[in-house]
Amino acid sequence: MSISKDDRIILRPDDIPTKWYNIAADLPEPLSPPLDPATNQPMRPEDLEAIFPKGAIAQEMSVDRYIDIPEEVRDAYLMLGRPSPLQRARRLEKYLKTPARIYFKREDLSPAGSHKPNSAIPQAYLNMKEGVENLTTETGAGQWGTALALACAHFDLGCKVFMVRSSYDQKPFRRLVMETYGATVHPSPSDVTEYGRSVKEKTPDHPGTLGIAISEAVEMCLHQENTKYSLGSVLNHVMLHQTVIGQEVMMQLEQIDTVPDYMVACVGGGSNFAGFCFPLMGQKIRGKVETEFIATEPTSVPSLTKGELRYDYGDTGGMTPKLKMYTMGCEFVPSAIHAGGLRYHGMAPSVSKVAELGYMKTYAYDQSDTFAAGVAFARAEGIIPAPESCHAIKGAMDLALEAKKNNEEKVIVFNLSGHGLLDMVGYDRYLHGNL
Ligand SMILES: *Cc1c(COP(=O)(O)O)cnc(C)c1O
Repeated sequence: MSISKDDRIILRPDDIPTKWYNIAADLPEPLSPPLDPATNQPMRPEDLEAIFPKGAIAQEMSVDRYIDIPEEVRDAYLMLGRPSPLQRARRLEKYLKTPARIYFKREDLSPAGSHKPNSAIPQAYLNMKEGVENLTTETGAGQWGTALALACAHFDLGCKVFMVRSSYDQKPFRRLVMETYGATVHPSPSDVTEYGRSVKEKTPDHPGTLGIAISEAVEMCLHQENTKYSLGSVLNHVMLHQTVIGQEVMMQLEQIDTVPDYMVACVGGGSNFAGFCFPLMGQKIRGKVETEFIATEPTSVPSLTKGELRYDYGDTGGMTPKLKMYTMGCEFVPSAIHAGGLRYHGMAPSVSKVAELGYMKTYAYDQSDTFAAGVAFARAEGIIPAPESCHAIKGAMDLALEAKKNNEEKVIVFNLSGHGLLDMVGYDRYLHGNL
């Protein structure tokens, strides 16, 4: 089989988007505001200043369709390897014997190995601009902590990461990557916060959750001088930053005169899905395309397929604002699946809103089916996907098989949100029957 120039669609450095896209401008109804956890009243911008820089809060509340990307951030995006290629999975198509065309966006190529630096870089930048010296955060699989550690090194900030204990134990190399970038990493629940100690007292061998780690990171931020908190998903400004992905994909598909039938991405807190899909979804809302948008999630954390749409805390300790979202409940403890980045009880309010409005669909998959898809992809395309991304691959493969059944030449584009080279323990368990 020959490789054509349409198999790897690249953009020039100058093509890095100059603006982020804000879907709030195109929604038929406003997003529900975050509520103060103490009073249940909508939060005012100044109420959020204890944990976030003003620049991020302004973006969080904005309803402007486009927001300029600062030059320093575009320069850092170049360092991350943006624009990233869009690649055709021709050997996967052949393996599936499908008439569908499958493309994937290479977010695995960033130095941190995932899409997460797309938001870590602007968040660190906005803090640095306001004189903040340290950032605290949580990390599930370790991807967000890695991205923020990289971004803090880039802008000379200190970085403290609370890493969900089950991941901390399963993924020692992730911790070492963060430490190499200069971050301090605590397993969560930890002994360094009051909340962490209270959880450990009740359940000494608690595997940790993102919700607990968020509570610890927020607590440390509130008790330490010149320190702010940084969140890797869920919030509007994070979704906004990730839209560089989808804007690039639109330019790339334009180069080959293609409008996708399906766009597929996995969902944890929703940021790679939003970043990948929202720019084109805006066009769909305005009646310009008919693309279907598909989120894939684990059956063990089915916030979109089985969760309730209501106000809930973003964390487990009840320290963060309440957000209107599909949620499993903030006390929910997901099983210790290897796709640690998908172990979040809630879903971004913006993704929850477009799900409620029917602009997207969600499918849930069992862990072993997603690893089977990831292994097939690795053998066909040579790239070992992150366990999270395996959910997107499984979704894309199922659509390609449906296209085969109906003999339809569908175009399926999925987001390869990260590589799995630091997740080999999960592959070990899958390959050797110990999942
Ligand atoms: C964190 C992560 C996810 C899930 O987070 P979202 O905010 O839903 O994108 C998915 N894939 C990878 C590789 C991740 O690191």
